[in-house]
Order: sequence, then C-alpha cells, then structure tokens
Amino acid sequence: MQKLQKGFWHYLEFWRALFPRRRALRWRETWLQNGYCRDCRYCCGPQDSNEPFPMALLPGQLHSHLSDDFYLLNADTAYLDARGCKADTDHGCRLRLTQRPVACGLFPLVLVNGGLYLYKTCPAVIFTPLDRLADLGLEAAGWLTGFSLTDLRHISLDIPAQTLAERYISLNISLFDANGVELRLG
Ligand code: SF4
Ligand code: SF4
Repeated sequence: MQKLQKGFWHYLEFWRALFPRRRALRWRETWLQNGYCRDCRYCCGPQDSNEPFPMALLPGQLHSHLSDDFYLLNADTAYLDARGCKADTDHGCRLRLTQRPVACGLFPLVLVNGGLYLYKTCPAVIFTPLDRLADLGLEAAGWLTGFSLTDLRHISLDIPAQTLAERYISLNISLFDANGVELRLG
C-alpha cells in the first residue's frame, strides 16, 4: 500500500481524469470498503519509491510460509516497495481479508504514532468530504480500541513530523499513548 510519491498535484490531476464522479466509502466492521479501489489499485502495486512501507502482522496471522505471500522486513512485519506487494495480482489481492495486514483494510486511514491519519494522495481522500472521512475514521478507531496495546503498538507506524505533514492529514483521533489504549478526539 501507499507511497504515491510523485506528489499531491500530480495525483490530483491524474485522479480527476480517472474519477469524474464521487464513489462511496463504508466501514465494514473490520475494514474500509472503498469504491475507488477497483479502478485505482495503486497502493498494492509498484511504488514510486523503493523505501519499504511496513505492514505489521498480528500474532494470529503468522505461519511458516509467510514469505510466499509477503516481502518480509522481519518475522512479523511485511512490506512493499518499488516491486509492489508480493500478494498483488492482475486481479487484485490474492489473500483472504483475514490474512491481510490490518493496514490494508484501513488504508487510506493509517495508524501513525498512536493516532489516525489519512494518506493525502489516495483518490478516496481527495474526493471524499473531510467530515465523512472523519466519521469513517471514528468507526475504524472504535474497532481498533478492541486491540491490545501491544498489538496497536506493533501495527502503528513511526513517521517523523515532517513526513507526516507532507503526506498525511491528521484526523485528530488518538488511540493510545504511554498510558494505554484510549479513544480520544482532539
Ligand atoms: S486505498 Fe486509495 S490508493 Fe489504495 S487502491 Fe484504494 S483508492 Fe487507490
Ligand atoms: S496484502 Fe493484499 S491488500 Fe495488502 S498490500 Fe498486499 S496485495 Fe495489497
């Protein structure tokens, strides 16, 4: 997923041509159903950058053949880069929803530094009103608060402030901090 690094304005023009009409997004208990994905599919395919984008796996998703499905950063974290994701095919992701990293079901919502953000250059973010995206973020956050602090820390990305400002939009939804899991709106 992610790393549409050609820049916001490049993708704004590109998506405008591809998506003349708005499409619907809906939170489906454990994942975000996104009407743009079927004609976009950028975030599973080859990325502009070869910088690895980590996608942590939960303990229940680990098995001895993980490397058949993913490029692995370590024993419990997959990643994608300029090659795209190993599980991507011409027809989309070949994995069942339960086999996919949590990040895949959330995107373009991204859990970063304990809070929820939007990835700016996803067409769903560009064309969906922010109040709708905020509501979807809140639904996703409600689901994520059912995770343990250990799992949330594991799946949360650490991204420096400058990169966050360049590529992400904060939803002002905090899920955890040093004191534990707690849903807070800022
Ligand atoms: S999440 Fe966004 S960038 Fe990824 S395939 Fe769907 S619409 Fe495209
Ligand atoms: S696991 Fe599937 S949904 Fe996730 S990045 Fe890979 S191809 Fe895309």
